[in-house]
Amino acid sequence: MDFQLSPLQKELQARMRAFAQNEVAPFARQWDENRAMPREIIRRLAELGVLGGPLPREYGGQGWDYVSTAIAYEEIGRACSSTRGFIAVHLGLVSMCIKDWGTEEQKRALLPRLARGEIIGCYALTEPNAGSDVGSMESTATRDGDHYLLNGTKIWISNGNIADVALVFASVDRSLKHRGVTAFIVETSAPGFHREKMEGQELGHRASDHAVIRLQNCRVHKSALLGKEGEGFKVAMGALDHGRLGVAAGAVGVAQACIDACVEFLTKRQQFGQRLADFQMVQQAMADMFVETEAARLLTYKAAALKDAGVRTTSETSAAKLYATEAASRAASKAVFLHGSYGYTNLYPVERYYRDIKGFEIYEGTSFIQRIIIARDLLGTGKK
Ligand SMILES: Cc1cc2nc3c(=O)[nH]c(=O)nc-3n(C[C@H](O)[C@H](O)[C@H](O)COP(=O)(O)OP(=O)(O)OC[C@H]3O[C@@H](n4cnc5c(N)ncnc54)[C@H](O)[C@@H]3O)c2cc1C
Repeated sequence: MDFQLSPLQKELQARMRAFAQNEVAPFARQWDENRAMPREIIRRLAELGVLGGPLPREYGGQGWDYVSTAIAYEEIGRACSSTRGFIAVHLGLVSMCIKDWGTEEQKRALLPRLARGEIIGCYALTEPNAGSDVGSMESTATRDGDHYLLNGTKIWISNGNIADVALVFASVDRSLKHRGVTAFIVETSAPGFHREKMEGQELGHRASDHAVIRLQNCRVHKSALLGKEGEGFKVAMGALDHGRLGVAAGAVGVAQACIDACVEFLTKRQQFGQRLADFQMVQQAMADMFVETEAARLLTYKAAALKDAGVRTTSETSAAKLYATEAASRAASKAVFLHGSYGYTNLYPVERYYRDIKGFEIYEGTSFIQRIIIARDLLGTGKK
C-alpha cells in the first residue's frame, strides 16, 4: 500500500491549490453574499481542465484518475463549497453519467462541450414528494410516437437556472416504482421546460444556483433516452456513486479549511496572557479535528483508489461520504466555537463553513441513507 501521491498527483494538487487559494478563496464570501458566482469562474475551471478532469481524452477530458479528481474537489472545496458543488453536479452527476450510460452519439455530441464549459449540466431527480424515496417519484414520461411527453416538478436542482442540458428522471409506469424510472437528456430550451429560482434563502451554498423545474408536456425525442426505459434508477444511482466521491472530497476540503482557519486564529489571539493555542483543551480540540480529517481523507482516497482499480465501490463511497461530511460538520462546529464570538460573524470564514457543511449531510443521499446503503451491503437487508 502506497500512501504517497504520485508526482503527477502532487503536481495537480499544487496547481489546484494555487488556483483555489488565489482565484476562489478571496472571493468566496462576496459570492456567498451576492448569492451567485461569476460565469468567469466556470470558464477558468474549464481552462484548467477541471470540468473534464476524469473524462477520457477522446471525449475532451484530461484522463485524470479518481484519486486526482478527489484531490481537485478537495482543494476547490477547501476554498468554496458552492464552486465545488457546481463541479460535483456538472462533472460528477452529469458528464460522468453520460460517459457511463450514453450512446456513442450522445457522448460525442455532449461530453467535449461540457468539458469546455460551453454548455452547463444539471441533474433533476428530487421532487417535492420524492427525495430519499426516488422510487415514489411522480414525474411521468408518456410515449407519443417517436417522442415522450415529460410532466412533473423537480426541486433543489443545482445549476438548474443556468444549465443548457438537464438529466431528467421520470417514470414510464408509476406502478413499477423504481423499475419505471427512466432517464432523459433534455435541452433546457425544449418547449414545456420551465424553471425558476427556489423560494427562500438557503442556509449554505448561497452562491450556488438552485432551481425549481416544471415540466409541462415537455416533448423530447426518443433519442434523448439515457439508458433504456426502466433503467433510470440504475442510471441515477450510478451517477451518485461519482457525485458522492466529490461530496466526500469536498467535505475533506471544508474540514481542512476549518483547521487552517483555527491555526491562523488560535496562534494569534491571546487570553489570560497567552496564545489560545497554548491552552491544552484547545490543543485537544485541534488534535481531534486533525485525526478526523485525516481519517476522512483516507476513506475518500481509498474509495477513489478502488474506483481506479475498477472495483465496485458503492459501500466504500457511501462510507467516505458519510464519515467525511459528519467529520467536517464536527470540525466546522468546533471551529466556530474556538473562534469565540468572532466565529459567529461573517467577518471570519468559519461561519460560512458551518452553514455550508450542513447541506453535505443532506444532498446526494442523507447520512441516514448512506447508513442504509452500508448496512444493506453488510447485512443483505432491503433485498426483496
Ligand atoms: C444544497 C442542496 C443541493 C441539492 N442539489 C440537488 C440536485 O442538483 N439535484 C437533485 O435532484 N436534488 C438536489 N438536492 C436535493 C437532495 O438530494 C434531497 O434534499 C435529499 O435527497 C433528501 O431528500 P428530501 O429533502 O426530500 O428529504 P427526505 O427524503 O424527506 O428526508 C427527510 C429526513 O428523513 C430521513 N429519511 C428519509 N428516508 C428515510 C429512511 N428510509 N430511513 C431513515 N430515515 C429516512 C432523511 O435522512 C432526512 O433526515 C439538493 C439539496 C440541497 C440541500
